[in-house]
Amino acid sequence: MLRFFAFRKMKIIDYIIVGDGFAAYFLAHRLIREGKSFMLFSDGITGASGVSAGVVNPVVLKKFTTFWLAQEQIDALHKTLEEMSAYTGRNYWIYEPVFRVFHDEAERDLWLKKSGTDELRPFLSTDFTFFDEIHNPFGCGEVLQSGRVDVPAFFNDFSSYLHTNGHDAGAAFDYNLLEPENNIYLDFKYRHVVFCEGMGVVQNPWFHDLAVSPNKGHHLLVKLPAGSTKSTVKKKHFLFPLNEGHWYYGGTYDRNGVGAAVDEKAVAELESGLSQLASDYTVEEVRNGFRPTVRDRRPILGAHFRFGNLFVMNGLGGRGLLNGNYFAEELFRHIEYGESLRSETDIARFGSE
Ligand SMILES: Cc1cc2nc3c(=O)[nH]c(=O)nc-3n(C[C@H](O)[C@H](O)[C@H](O)COP(=O)(O)OP(=O)(O)OC[C@H]3O[C@@H](n4cnc5c(N)ncnc54)[C@H](O)[C@@H]3O)c2cc1C
Repeated sequence: MLRFFAFRKMKIIDYIIVGDGFAAYFLAHRLIREGKSFMLFSDGITGASGVSAGVVNPVVLKKFTTFWLAQEQIDALHKTLEEMSAYTGRNYWIYEPVFRVFHDEAERDLWLKKSGTDELRPFLSTDFTFFDEIHNPFGCGEVLQSGRVDVPAFFNDFSSYLHTNGHDAGAAFDYNLLEPENNIYLDFKYRHVVFCEGMGVVQNPWFHDLAVSPNKGHHLLVKLPAGSTKSTVKKKHFLFPLNEGHWYYGGTYDRNGVGAAVDEKAVAELESGLSQLASDYTVEEVRNGFRPTVRDRRPILGAHFRFGNLFVMNGLGGRGLLNGNYFAEELFRHIEYGESLRSETDIARFGSE
């Protein structure tokens, strides 16, 4: 009896990455560094990373506190940006520190007091500054080690690099085509799939019930009279110059916001905040996105309870740059070397998701 076998010619790869935000790109960087083969699937829709301000700030400016692993995360981000510049040709760090605009004298005094504590000494400057272009009658305090990443350049360059080097699948990931029992997706035989989908995870058949919630954020692109400020100032939200009189102002936080439409309430909140800093401005554009947030404010990393080669990296919250970079490495080391995830970030903390 003649038997016919259907042979599928498979490309063997180490990783499939699903997504194209900070989580996906920092993981991709780790794979490039470690010489792993991979394909990245992107649906071409701008996620939270694409609308983010790119601000890196080790201080919670409402309360004048810092946060978990702030120093380690900042050091790690600088190291990664340096490594990336070796192959993209650019370092995306913009040395434009964050300045907190003081509401009153009492707040300035509190800053001074906090700057003397062990926790905040590395991050709060005791020299105060006044800017010409904005209302700041009580002056501003500089957050040391803060700055900004050039988000558009980061994504433009990195996606070109992925494309040129054959890592860009050029398509969205279709969940129906994954065969997790056989480690096959289309004609790829993979070792691992890592889902880095931000709030898109709710569509994912394996991780749709992940404990992430959307927090809708809006920002404005505004025109202000030309000035010389080369810093990020923060009173209610962040304000920083882009180019030719254009400035970024944002973002809002709204746990109940749904849908892609612009919320007028958020715009009103932003305009009210901006008018405390500048009187002569024109709003040119309003954009929004959904931060993937977690109740305990820690990212979520780990494998699916049944298919051990399917991983998730999500829950970067309001700190996509610091969390994305730092925890991409943690997840990579877990997958490749079996290193334990921290109990704070392990998906296992939510039971069998
Ligand atoms: C207004 C605003 C300002 C912010 N400012 C800052 C800031 O200054 N500094 C900071 O560190 N963080 C900031 N954040 C937070 C930061 O943006 C998020 O933490 C981060 O973007 C989350 O990254 P992510 O990769 O997990 O998700 P995303 O950036 O949302 O990326 C996920 C991507 O995956 C894609 N995707 C989903 N499903 C699929 C599929 N099936 N196939 C292919 N692709 C898929 C999505 O379209 C999306 O593009 C801000 C957020 C907002 C909304």
